[in-house]
Amino acid sequence: MPYPTQPTASHFINGAYVEDTAGAEIPVIYPATGEQIAQVHEATPAIIEQALNSAKAAQKAWAALSGTERGRILRRAADMIRERNHDLSVLETYDTGKPMSETLYVDATSGADALEYFGGLAGSLTGEHIQLGDDWVYTRREALGVCVGIGAWNYPTQIACWKGAPALACGNAMVFKPSETTPLCALKVAEILHEAGLPAGLYNVIQGTGVVGAPLVSDPRVDKVSLTGSVPTGRKVYAAAAAGIKNVTMELGGKSPLIIFDDASLEDAVGGAILANFYSSGQVCSNGTRVFVQKGIKEAFLARLHERLSEAVIGDPMDEATNFGPMVSENQMKIVQSYIEKGKAEGARLVCGGTRLEREGYYLEPTVFADVHDDMIIAREEIFGPVMAVLDFEEEEDAIARANATEFGLSAGVFTSDLTRGHRVIAQLEAGSCFINSYNDAPVEAPFGGSKQSGVGRENSKSAIEHYSQMKSVYVRMGAVDAPF
Ligand code: NAD
Repeated sequence: MPYPTQPTASHFINGAYVEDTAGAEIPVIYPATGEQIAQVHEATPAIIEQALNSAKAAQKAWAALSGTERGRILRRAADMIRERNHDLSVLETYDTGKPMSETLYVDATSGADALEYFGGLAGSLTGEHIQLGDDWVYTRREALGVCVGIGAWNYPTQIACWKGAPALACGNAMVFKPSETTPLCALKVAEILHEAGLPAGLYNVIQGTGVVGAPLVSDPRVDKVSLTGSVPTGRKVYAAAAAGIKNVTMELGGKSPLIIFDDASLEDAVGGAILANFYSSGQVCSNGTRVFVQKGIKEAFLARLHERLSEAVIGDPMDEATNFGPMVSENQMKIVQSYIEKGKAEGARLVCGGTRLEREGYYLEPTVFADVHDDMIIAREEIFGPVMAVLDFEEEEDAIARANATEFGLSAGVFTSDLTRGHRVIAQLEAGSCFINSYNDAPVEAPFGGSKQSGVGRENSKSAIEHYSQMKSVYVRMGAVDAPF
């Protein structure tokens, strides 16, 4: 393969690239052109065995190191990722089609943030001492064992690090399966971690579809499963993990509300709605795709939104001036096109966009529907593309009730200049990751995750430690044992 994107081999196991051409071929397509830029092979049962065995064999010695020693390696990997940010961003752009104006700033760099943050925390992970008269209890924070990470295609580097960093900081080993749509970036994360000094076997990457994910989830050697994906996949993976009483983290889909009151700064509200719908061409799980706009500001909001969307620079993702790229795949583009057709058929008003660009690659225009009603399909289902639904409201209570009338609970946002109202409204919204006068910020220091059907557990922040470790409590008797007989 003449492209620099072709990896050395499909999988990374026990500290080295591994190939097994008996696995089904997975073509890697550059979404901006539709060209094939690499090819990997799906993991065979023999590859799955190798990955799980090497993780199992390496984990105990890793957990026996001090947290500071583990953390040092993660922080070294973070530094190496930052030094190689440009090359990693080019690879992320090839893998996903996202423009360099995004990947240079939020993909490898947020992966490095996670490695640095959890590397820093590793040395401070402790149990506690509980005095009970002369007796006492102490707790030990222990690793879970072997963790499986399964990724979605929208943030392949970030997801590989958001799962790997806390898992490794807590003394676990990981087998990571990227999405079959974007298999390239996680291999680089594995390569860098090992170059930074990670002992072989602790971070393995194997390729494949759900056919590879399913046996990983049900394998008895696996203690924890962390999935980033859609709600239907989450249901399957959660059920399979439950059969083995495994720990889970589920980062799933959403249909999040963004409520804009008519006292909000118009410019900020429009900017927030753009970030909430069109970043990464709308392929962000936490997007605020149901935009509730108070009637007083509605027409001004739509007019300014239309104006600013016409300034989007749509084009070659490798050109740093481009700020809106293609959909990740032909399949995803078709799914989004079918939702646009449903929006039109249901009678929503198409304010702008709605069509595929006449050029190679999987480009759709940023699309806005107004006069959307709560019962329309485009207001109920996750589209995962650049389609904003604008809904009207008059009363605060009404907006809150309608915002919460969904099975999802990933994110929510509110724009208002009334701070009391901002806090009052956000407290009532049923969602895990919320924003006031902002949207889609995800610093590693803040817990990230969903409520309701959008997920279980939290990634990032100190909260993630709870999901990648377990507490052992040890009762210590200092005197005689008083038994009944
Ligand atoms: P998907 O559910 O189709 O696939 C996710 C992953 O699960 C892939 O790696 C896939 O191969 C794997 N998989 C599929 N079936 C499986 C099975 N039975 N057992 C084990 N693994 C299986 O999702 P996608 O299309 O890759 O990504 C888009 C979805 O991900 C959207 O719904 C989006 O909201 C969600 N997402 C959520 C977050 C979050 O943090 N909450 C972040 C990004 C994406």
